[in-house]
Amino acid sequence: MPLLPTCQNCGEKWTWVHSFFFVQGKPCPYCGKKQYANRRSRKIFFLISFIIPMPVLLPAFVDVSPLVSLSVLIGTFLLCSGSYPFLLKLSNKEEFISLYMIKIRHRFMSVLKIDSR
Ligand SMILES: [Zn+2]
Repeated sequence: MPLLPTCQNCGEKWTWVHSFFFVQGKPCPYCGKKQYANRRSRKIFFLISFIIPMPVLLPAFVDVSPLVSLSVLIGTFLLCSGSYPFLLKLSNKEEFISLYMIKIRHRFMSVLKIDSR
């Protein structure tokens, strides 16, 4: 049985329903401290968002009817969203955004350097 996310502040285990409606950050139902998805789970969700539309492309490669690809799409979506709470790992601080901002800043600065030469 996969583990449901645990609050990094009070250590209480979140319910499946509570984790399911998790978007960017959410206060813990037990202690009220805002929890964020950690970097690893954000990477997983990022990959999932690419996997879900894949069945739409299926008829381009395999000879399947639109009805089959639609069923596969719904199936993939339900499977991914159903496993969402089990893939979610919480963090007390927002991890990905700050790293992402640093990366953008680095890229921006390197572009500026190239331009100034
Ligand atoms: Zn808590």
